[in-house]
Amino acid sequence: MHIAPGQDPAAENSYEVGRIDIVLERADIGRRDRLIIYEGNSRSSDAILIDINGNSGSDGGETEFPIEVTTSSNMVIVEFSSDQSAQTVGTGFLAHYKSHKKTFWDSYILVTLTFLTICSCMCCLCFRCMTFTNHHREVENDFGMDLEATDRGASLSSINKFPTFTFTEQHKLKLEKLEQEISCSICLGDYEDGEEVRLLPCGHTFHSPCIDAWLQINSICPLCKVNVIDLATEKRKTKRKERRKQLVNKVMRRGRGSSKNATISPRKSDEVLEYTARSNQL
Ligand SMILES: [Zn+2]
Ligand SMILES: [Zn+2]
Repeated sequence: MHIAPGQDPAAENSYEVGRIDIVLERADIGRRDRLIIYEGNSRSSDAILIDINGNSGSDGGETEFPIEVTTSSNMVIVEFSSDQSAQTVGTGFLAHYKSHKKTFWDSYILVTLTFLTICSCMCCLCFRCMTFTNHHREVENDFGMDLEATDRGASLSSINKFPTFTFTEQHKLKLEKLEQEISCSICLGDYEDGEEVRLLPCGHTFHSPCIDAWLQINSICPLCKVNVIDLATEKRKTKRKERRKQLVNKVMRRGRGSSKNATISPRKSDEVLEYTARSNQL
């Protein structure tokens, strides 16, 4: 038996069903009888809403009534099977159904969800495109090489913040004294007089054109593998903190000196303390 509630027999007020409430008031299921209510137009085991089975020996008398279920399907299938035996046949079941009109959301939720999914996919793609375009830049280099910068690389303006010097014999002696390389680990060439050499925050040196091209692809030092951009930021922060500390010490010393001479007003000493507290917090 197939039932599609909401279909007015007079067909005067027929409407599209979006949801069905089922209330199974009672069921008299005999041995070898079975009542199954499926949602939708399928009799698969996944679609079972109610299953009262007398085949297993129980007669459905143990089931507590009423049983109330709601399905978002616009159709239910009620299947009552009996072995027709006079001794075992059940007398049937009593159920009522209430259908709910399909609302705007019922009708358009799938369309809306699909639309939103497409929109988010497009946004993701656009964002990827934008970021890809941003990173799809050439490595500026003195070798005339066609290289592509990556998102792990540093910008030339950040690289230019690292100091450079023109290599001389004195630099060679100094580097040898410090037991540092006197050749560039990228091109493996020795530093020659007059060549521009860049000093990284980790203390390692390279030919300026070599390291500039390298860092645009990957911002780690080829020798110690430290991220030189992060290291430079850290060093700047530490330097700023040190400078603040020195300033506070200076103010405190002055404050103490002045209080010895009893020239500092109580209000001023409060200001000094407040400033110190604030600096420490920072
Ligand atoms: Zn080099
Ligand atoms: Zn290094």
